[in-house]
Amino acid sequence: MKQKAEQFSEERVAQECICCASKVLNRTSAIIMPFIAKRIWGYDSVEITPAWGLRDIKPGFAYCLCNSMHCGNCGALFLDIRFTDHELARLYEGYRDDSYTALRELYEPGYVEKNKFFSGRAPYIKDIEEFLLQRISVPNKILDWGGDTGINTPLLGTAKEVHVFDISGMRAIEGVRAVSRDEIKENGYDLIICSQVLEHIPYPQKLLRDIISAMSDSTILYLEVPYEEVMREFVGSPDLAQRKRHWHEHINFFSLESIRKLVEGAGLELIEIIPNEISLGWRTAVVTSILCRKAQA
Ligand SMILES: [Zn+2]
Repeated sequence: MKQKAEQFSEERVAQECICCASKVLNRTSAIIMPFIAKRIWGYDSVEITPAWGLRDIKPGFAYCLCNSMHCGNCGALFLDIRFTDHELARLYEGYRDDSYTALRELYEPGYVEKNKFFSGRAPYIKDIEEFLLQRISVPNKILDWGGDTGINTPLLGTAKEVHVFDISGMRAIEGVRAVSRDEIKENGYDLIICSQVLEHIPYPQKLLRDIISAMSDSTILYLEVPYEEVMREFVGSPDLAQRKRHWHEHINFFSLESIRKLVEGAGLELIEIIPNEISLGWRTAVVTSILCRKAQA
């Protein structure tokens, strides 16, 4: 059944749950990791010393402060600061290119080594393709929303046509066509994929509504988000906010219930939601795989 649309104020500092709009929120102080603060705002972490001459401030290290927010209604866990479009562009333009990688290595030694696992097609994509083909017929036309170059688009080489829409500005790989918003409107898609995107963006429901505008009644939408360890280990725990003291690229951690609320609130009908264990190359992880279609009026 279609739910009444929730009201999201879209304030700079979230005042309601990003999935269900509940204002029943538990919050705890946390920090934004130095790489993110530097890349988005040019902020450095700093040591405050007596030489600063501040009368009421204690010496010590200062990092970019924020709050961890935990929804008492659906269990979503998220960073309170919601990035603007310009900030997201600064974070993701040239994602994983040389300058991005060099800055990240500076703050997070070992990143270059880990980044090698991102250079080709992720090995777990074949498992996602299997998951999809057990449930849907081979699609003619796919749109991968936020799919970067298309390198990890499931069913690439199986579907007749693959389009990607992405803000990174990276050139699409062979067999994939990068499309603009206007071009999306001129096309009909059997399958839209939005994988590993919702955890990065400030207003997930707004994005889903955007995607819905590109869907027909027969379009299937495949969503995929990380099922983060803290969300799996402490399902239903009331003190999740206290267990998350730092924020990086993933600013939204989803419980299964929060995804249900999110997709249904956006005007989608949930077909299936399943946690899938995957291999990232350097470690295993769990993603939540979600299939939906447009809710019937
Ligand atoms: Zn919620």
